[in-house]
Amino acid sequence: MSTRSFVLQVGSIEALVIRKQIKNLHLSVLPPNGKVRVAAPLVMKDDAIITLLATRLSWIKKQQTKFAEQDRQTKREYVSGETHYFLGRPYQMTVKYENSPANVELKGKNMIVLHVRPDSALEKREQVMVAWYRKELRLIGDDLLAKWQQKIGVQMQFWGIKRMKTRWGTCDEDTGRIWLNLELVKKPVSCIEYVVVHELLHLIERKHNEHFVNLITKYLPKWRHEKEELNRSMLSYEEWDY
Ligand SMILES: [Zn+2]
Repeated sequence: MSTRSFVLQVGSIEALVIRKQIKNLHLSVLPPNGKVRVAAPLVMKDDAIITLLATRLSWIKKQQTKFAEQDRQTKREYVSGETHYFLGRPYQMTVKYENSPANVELKGKNMIVLHVRPDSALEKREQVMVAWYRKELRLIGDDLLAKWQQKIGVQMQFWGIKRMKTRWGTCDEDTGRIWLNLELVKKPVSCIEYVVVHELLHLIERKHNEHFVNLITKYLPKWRHEKEELNRSMLSYEEWDY
């Protein structure tokens, strides 16, 4: 199959055009930076691509603005008064600067207290929170993975926590390694459980086919609810088809 790619400038937008053996033009605005990618049929003329892009300029800019806003929303200062999520619930942060070891504690139903040494900078405060989030997700993940490996009758080889931009979890079926996205710790336990079951089932079925859907429905009949909840908050990949 012959393919060729080039960059097209339309107004203020730069688009990477990839020629493919396809029938329709696919236009995508990709996270995290809002890069524009066009997959175009081999026979479509450059002029036709430019015309189509020109009609979609406002949509492209809207997507790019959305990504920029989502990016800003995820930036945190780790200061008193800020809202931080843990297992699906919002907590209001209080930062206490004191001469004792750094730690994080939950207080009551909706308070999270971040203890750090005096003069701890943003980076340090973030580090303490991230370490606490990792520790908590490690505990929850250990429990859920043990429980579900037994229920399903599969065995993984390793699991770890990573920060990922576009995926909640991954499973390498050949090595039996499972990774969970650190962001999951901010979601309800039912969502973490859905990702755990989903990734473990890939040890039985690699693809998201009917067999896979039947399996996950058997173990978690309401899985679509959790999937939707996770999709709502993830940077999503927008595509528009002609
Ligand atoms: Zn999957």
